[in-house]
Amino acid sequence: MEAILLARLDEEGEQFTGEDPAEVLELEPDEAVVSVGPLEYDLTVRQVIGDELLVQGRVGCEVAFRCSRCAQEFSRRVGETHYMRSYELRDETESVDLTPDMREATLLAFPAYPVCTSACVGLCPTCGKDLNAGPCECKPAEESRWGGLDALKLD
Ligand SMILES: [Zn+2]
Ligand SMILES: [Zn+2]
Repeated sequence: MEAILLARLDEEGEQFTGEDPAEVLELEPDEAVVSVGPLEYDLTVRQVIGDELLVQGRVGCEVAFRCSRCAQEFSRRVGETHYMRSYELRDETESVDLTPDMREATLLAFPAYPVCTSACVGLCPTCGKDLNAGPCECKPAEESRWGGLDALKLD
């Protein structure tokens, strides 16, 4: 979003609702992230006691992730629903750019290891079957791990 021009800001506070293209997030390529929607914001901006700009509302985006356990795609909103930032205003301050903090808050909300549901049991490490759909034919994990080692030695 464009910087807030203090001279134009309504004394009663103003609502800023809109979206910025996902590019403003400058997200590093990540194999767990399939696609990212625009950065959406719904903010109330108010100047309080003359020298502080108070920003409250919601920021975030819709993200398609690949589950780190089962590799299925799922969508989730990422961001802050109780977003609040304040900015100290100096005499020379003419405008305040809210985008860097909105970007940071949204990026911090990205999960390091996204999972489709907390109950996701993932794929069998041996046969790759999605165990959410039911058990596979493989032997218990302990045995199959040794089996994997034996297979490696043959190479
Ligand atoms: Zn999953
Ligand atoms: Zn299996």
